Amino acid sequence: MAQVHLKHLYKTFGDVSAVSDFDLEIQDQEFLVLVGPSGCGKSTTLRMIAGLEEISKGELYIGNRLVNDVPPKDRDIAMVFQSYALYPHMNVYQNMAFGLKLRKFKKKEIEERVREAAKILDIEHLLDRKPKALSGGQRQRVALGRAIVREPQVFLMDEPLSNLDAKLRVQMRTEISKLHQRLKTTVIYVTHDQTEAMTMGDRIVVMKDGVIQQADTPTEIYQHPANVFVAGFIGSPSMNIIEGRLSEKGHDVCFKGTGLEVKLPAGRGKILKEKGYVEKEVIFGIRPEDIHDEPLFLESSPDSRFTSKVEVAENMGSEMYLYLSGIADKWVTARVNARTGFTAGSEVELALDMNKIHIFDKESEETVF
Ligand code: ATP
Repeated sequence: MAQVHLKHLYKTFGDVSAVSDFDLEIQDQEFLVLVGPSGCGKSTTLRMIAGLEEISKGELYIGNRLVNDVPPKDRDIAMVFQSYALYPHMNVYQNMAFGLKLRKFKKKEIEERVREAAKILDIEHLLDRKPKALSGGQRQRVALGRAIVREPQVFLMDEPLSNLDAKLRVQMRTEISKLHQRLKTTVIYVTHDQTEAMTMGDRIVVMKDGVIQQADTPTEIYQHPANVFVAGFIGSPSMNIIEGRLSEKGHDVCFKGTGLEVKLPAGRGKILKEKGYVEKEVIFGIRPEDIHDEPLFLESSPDSRFTSKVEVAENMGSEMYLYLSGIADKWVTARVNARTGFTAGSEVELALDMNKIHIFDKESEETVF
């Protein structure tokens, strides 16, 4: 069993607290993604698991074994880096075989494992080539192959796709996911790319300033972000964040921000009232796809309709991103069908899906709902 248990891990570099109280159980065969902006402590966390960075405080278990003091080579893990770190003077076969040779595997066993991995990765025809004669995607496959032949309990991957161009990245993304299904091992994968996190992870851990913000399935994180940071980080284009105030009008609870006044559905208004948020400043969130332009939707949403000016219209082919002015202090983004053909400068009428709104506490920035 290859579960990995990080028990209240800390890492400090002098005065810098790189990772703080990281507490997480990663299940056997889980594909776990660590995601967050540059400097949030993802690589340091991975390097502690790999044994490349000493743990300042806390305990790390791989399987059921406490490994704080176990050297990297004895941890039964394999790591794939962003820079493929292939040996330039060795051909693909030798690169893949190298780690096994060091571990004194028999020649026949090495040959079997390398050929099997090459088959899985579709690089059998490249075994005689040197790295410089390979494309970026092929090099990355060799780097994966070198990890696979070790048959480790846990794969650690640090931004393995970031040196590839956009198209190849998408292709390798699916290949790594398929590989995971086939090998049935635990994968811990670091990226700053929220799309990679959303598409690859069984579970995502969003980090900021060395601290876990939320650990959950992609769907849960997308639909129920724990705070403003997670809400803004996961999702592209980002969730619109609008500051304003909740107030009571008759039996209704309304949100009022710059250029926007909307009525909340009765159930949601009631919750906010009970929690003491009425007549208080709050942060209001709405995802771009929850802003609609369809006539039927507009007709049935008199309480959340507004007009706005399109500053920029980005046509993505099947859909269109409208950047709208007049609401909040910055542009609000709406994601609509490209057939609408909106252009910059036009006035549009839109409505919010009020069942999809998010409300955050102004001070703590934690989600209220
Ligand atoms: P990136 O996406 O840019 O690689 P990251 O999320 O992986 O970022 P880390 O590399 O883990 O972040 O760094 C976390 C924090 O620890 C940063 O503030 C970084 O400057 C600091 N740090 C990392 N390694 C060291 C080191 N060897 N000495 C001092 N500070 C370090």
